[in-house]
Amino acid sequence: AAKAEGRRTHRFFEPAMDARAQARLAMEQDLRQALTAGSFDIHYQPLLDLSSGEVTGCEALLRWRHPERGMVSPAEFIPVAEDTGLINEIGDWVMQTACTEAAGWPSRVRLAVNVSPIQLKSPTLALRITGALAASGLPPDRLEIEITEAVLIHDDESALAILHQLRAIGVRIALDDFGTGFSSLSYLKRFPFDKIKIDRCFVSDIEIDGSAAIVQAVVNIAAARNMTTTAEGVETVQQREMLRQLGCTQMQGYLFSAPKPAAEARRLLGARVETETAVA
Ligand code: C2E
Ligand code: MG
Ligand code: MG
Ligand code: MG
Repeated sequence: AAKAEGRRTHRFFEPAMDARAQARLAMEQDLRQALTAGSFDIHYQPLLDLSSGEVTGCEALLRWRHPERGMVSPAEFIPVAEDTGLINEIGDWVMQTACTEAAGWPSRVRLAVNVSPIQLKSPTLALRITGALAASGLPPDRLEIEITEAVLIHDDESALAILHQLRAIGVRIALDDFGTGFSSLSYLKRFPFDKIKIDRCFVSDIEIDGSAAIVQAVVNIAAARNMTTTAEGVETVQQREMLRQLGCTQMQGYLFSAPKPAAEARRLLGARVETETAVA
């Protein structure tokens, strides 16, 4: 055992590992400072209703302006924030800031906020979200939290209990990135979601292979269970029209707009896009 231990210790101090560990430690320290230094910002991406062509939602997406590295992608820093528990403080800041912004939007526009599985481990999360709603004046039914299936994989009873608490106060719950990773239809039985977000990978291939049939199946399941659907990553008119014909409720993607700073996003919320039904 001593020998194995020795070997492991040795491996830990290999230069490459050491550099990676140091980079992570540095990021952890930078993340701690980012909140107080005001280096976080939220960009907002509109969600368009496919039958009316109106903006009916807007997703808050966190951005980090690092003093030396410039814009750091959430895909890079969220996992570090999750490992260190900093995601709770960062998540609270996102919730408070985004709710305050959304309180000034037209009432048909719902705010979507991503919530990490780690945040759902905190027994006070629902209370803190209730606080953010009350402080901002945003009605609970205009908030939608987006969670990934990671929450459902372990069948974590306490996380599900928090989702039910949020549901009880009127907050809506969406299943994000559906169809990726370990997605299973059985997850749809574990919680009564309000919405399924169909992952970008099905949208980008929609004209090429069997993706249209998969999207159709998800749309049908959603309708049968009283859920709406949002297609992520819509980049072309062809994709939009196909999704509309398949009966998808909403679209989100660069075709209409990339995520934008608050003031810019605000100007887009009154837009109405002429999809084929809107014209007819
Ligand atoms: P997500 O929630 O699935 O967000 C959608 C991602 O797709 C965003 O990436 C968005 O910029 C990108 N996207 C939107 N339309 C298009 C398109 O037409 N084409 C392409 N190629 N991409 C598109 P982003 O902003 O880099 O965020 C990545 C992920 O980071 C998010 O994925 C979410 O899981 C996580 N994230 C972002 N903000 C937060 C946050 O405040 N809290 C937590 N816990 N996670 C967050
Ligand atoms: Mg999301
Ligand atoms: Mg997504
Ligand atoms: Mg994603």
